[in-house]
Amino acid sequence: MSVDKSLSANELQDFGGVDGNYTELTRALLKQQKTVWKQLASGYESLETVHVREFQFDGFSMKVQFNPGRIISSSAKVDTKSIKERKCFLCIENLPPDQKGIAYGSEYLILCNPFPIFPEHYTIPNVHHVPQRIDSAFDVMLDLSKDIGKDYTVFYNGPKCGASAPDHLHFQAGNKGFMLIEDQFDGLKSSFGECILDTGELLITAIDDSLRRFIGVESKNKKLIEVVFKKFYDTYAAHNGNAEEPMMNIISYFLPDKGMWRILFIPRGKHRPSHYFLEGDDKILLSPASVDFGGILITPVEKDFNRLTSEHIIEMFNEVSLSKPVFENLMVQFKKALEK
Ligand SMILES: [Zn+2]
Repeated sequence: MSVDKSLSANELQDFGGVDGNYTELTRALLKQQKTVWKQLASGYESLETVHVREFQFDGFSMKVQFNPGRIISSSAKVDTKSIKERKCFLCIENLPPDQKGIAYGSEYLILCNPFPIFPEHYTIPNVHHVPQRIDSAFDVMLDLSKDIGKDYTVFYNGPKCGASAPDHLHFQAGNKGFMLIEDQFDGLKSSFGECILDTGELLITAIDDSLRRFIGVESKNKKLIEVVFKKFYDTYAAHNGNAEEPMMNIISYFLPDKGMWRILFIPRGKHRPSHYFLEGDDKILLSPASVDFGGILITPVEKDFNRLTSEHIIEMFNEVSLSKPVFENLMVQFKKALEK
């Protein structure tokens, strides 16, 4: 990694950085970057003006955020040709001169996201230009969600599920509890959950709240979670026949008081809902990824923000989630894989 892109704990000391404490260093990085990097500062200024609407569903709620700063990301062209033709914005050599980060291990760099959704929003790319694939990076996701877990939640958008750099491996992180699903998880689990496995050390629950269908995995044991991930991934890949990566979003957060991880695996039926592709007034620019599944729906278009109804939301999530029969079938296969 080119040394000039990573700030040391010493350099972040004045901003609250504490050597060895990734949560504090990460927060200090944002403070430092706001003082030197104009684009970031203006991204956070524009975040102050976002509008929010809340929608109640049966047993949970979702918020819609009108965030004009997200237009680039929400409408990003992620087809192979467009990706090949643009300069990769996560490669170190292409970062703006004022953008600096914190080295996370030898392979990752914690960076500030200049188009924030969260009050504090980070992107954590690999230092190499390697494709967005979770199978060999999942253990890093677990470590990272623990290391910054006091205040931040980590998430992953698959290459065809919302990642705006499908060609460059990266995670994102934002303030813990900002995504409504985190606080609503226990309620969702008891109202809509079906226990897939409970060993005392490991709890796996399939949840279908009639909009979203996903799996919650809870454990203190990192190795066990990795085994579960591998079994889920292989089952889903076989089920799905997708050569690249079975479509999914992942939300991972650590509960320090319980000493355990909670990971939400969100398998996907489609990348974008049909409303995204409609013409004229019928088009709704909302392309769900982890944060939207987490209960914070982002639209950069004011007109869409104003006219969005709960019926739209129900329809869109049902389109991009796995369908009920496909999800149920996947859970049958997953259970079998877990018994082996
Ligand atoms: Zn790159």
